[in-house]
Amino acid sequence: MSSPTPITPELLRSMPLPSHAEGADKNSRGRVLVIGGSVEVPGAALLTGESALRAGAGKVQLATVRSMAAQLALAMPEARVTGLAETPEGDIDPTEAGRLAHRCGGCDALVVGPGMMEIETARQFTSGLLAEVATGPALVLDAAALAALPGSREALRRHAGCLILTPHATEMAHLLDWPEARVTADPLAAGREAAMRFGAVVDMKGGCSHVVTPDGKAWLCGRGNVGLATSGSGDTLAGIIAGLLARGAVPLAATLWGVFLHAEAGERLARARGPVGYLAREIPGEVPGIMASLL
Ligand code: AMP
Ligand code: MG
Repeated sequence: MSSPTPITPELLRSMPLPSHAEGADKNSRGRVLVIGGSVEVPGAALLTGESALRAGAGKVQLATVRSMAAQLALAMPEARVTGLAETPEGDIDPTEAGRLAHRCGGCDALVVGPGMMEIETARQFTSGLLAEVATGPALVLDAAALAALPGSREALRRHAGCLILTPHATEMAHLLDWPEARVTADPLAAGREAAMRFGAVVDMKGGCSHVVTPDGKAWLCGRGNVGLATSGSGDTLAGIIAGLLARGAVPLAATLWGVFLHAEAGERLARARGPVGYLAREIPGEVPGIMASLL
């Protein structure tokens, strides 16, 4: 297998993001649906949704636990917010999967997982969603939602070519049923195994991130800084990728651009604030300027 190609501005310029005519309306830049959040971590869905808009998506809808929906809607006035039934522990109830799947038809990109807390509840919900949702929208699976993959092989075949996975090392270890030390010793091998097994574009996240496609091709992002290792950081990455997908970027381009924009945002914040201590909520605001600088 060849070694990974570095993700550079030149590489990204060779796969330009869709452009949008001055007269175009918001529907032409696509709609993102973020499904996530819980009573304990309601703000994760907000971080993801805001990041999707900052990456240029036209519209964002959040689907989250009912008891937090009104607060989220006020915190993010740009979003349409749907409240879903919740479990006694405060997660989205898996019985909502079917109803929600049928409302996904009008969206261009879907993110599932940010802020979901109970792994088993997230697994059940996401399995139901993958089984029911129509083929078409690009799907970004993150965090606890990744637990649904091993038991969803048939559904995954339907979504082949539309799927992006964004695990960090612990999530990857669960996904592959490998010891975490094996993942951290060879993250590229883990990324390749997951991409092949699940037929997805995989961003194996870490200090360096590896992006891998099912045919084993790989790209490496060595940018970013340690301040990106902060609560909510991955939620913003998932949203940036989804926003680019909604605008019409194909899954590989959206992932390569998303990983680079996220890392570069970290570098800019590190210069402005110091290497650690900036907040995940500050990442999305950096994205439009970085995108513009790469045109
Ligand atoms: P999560 O763990 O899901 O919040 O995701 C963390 C995000 O920050 C991923 O995109 C990682 O690749 C990135 N990240 C974490 N630690 C570092 C680091 N030391 N240097 C650069 N990027 C990092
Ligand atoms: Mg995460």
